[in-house]
Amino acid sequence: MSIIRDAAAIAKGMSITLKEAFQPTEVENYPDGKGPMRGAQFQERFRGKHELQRDENGLEKCVACFLCAAACPSNCIYIEAAENTETTRISSADRYAKVYNIDYNRCIFCGYCVEACPTDAITHGHGFELASLNATSLVMRKEDLLVSPSKLAGTVQSKKDEAAVLA
Ligand code: SF4
Ligand code: SF4
Repeated sequence: MSIIRDAAAIAKGMSITLKEAFQPTEVENYPDGKGPMRGAQFQERFRGKHELQRDENGLEKCVACFLCAAACPSNCIYIEAAENTETTRISSADRYAKVYNIDYNRCIFCGYCVEACPTDAITHGHGFELASLNATSLVMRKEDLLVSPSKLAGTVQSKKDEAAVLA
């Protein structure tokens, strides 16, 4: 009986394989497609390259609490904190991330850093073209991750703060 059952299972599996073998092939026309995505398509929930977000005033949301680095199972987030001063304000809290690096040689895109962040400062963007033969270029710095102030509608930010941010 077991031989008959096994043969039936194999026949069922092979029938599915043969049926699928003659279906039209669906492929993404990447990178030769049209538009900025060059033919690539992905779901909204796709976890791509991280983005460091700003608040409605253009200040950085990251307050250098290190919770994302602590949650990261790959130990690929490196942060150096600094204090805001009366003359130079980068975030709305006492501290900001003077250095914020993510090593994409090690990141597994698990999203734990995003979940751990109390200020929604770090999110996953949709950037996906990260492959490189140069491992050094896969260590992204804050300047590579921070969203541009110009992306915010109605941003209220002094030229001095913006210059400090982009320095
Ligand atoms: S996505 Fe995961 S592995 Fe990548 S930086 Fe965040 S916590 Fe670390
Ligand atoms: S990104 Fe979020 S969790 Fe990480 S240091 Fe900044 S505020 Fe803290």
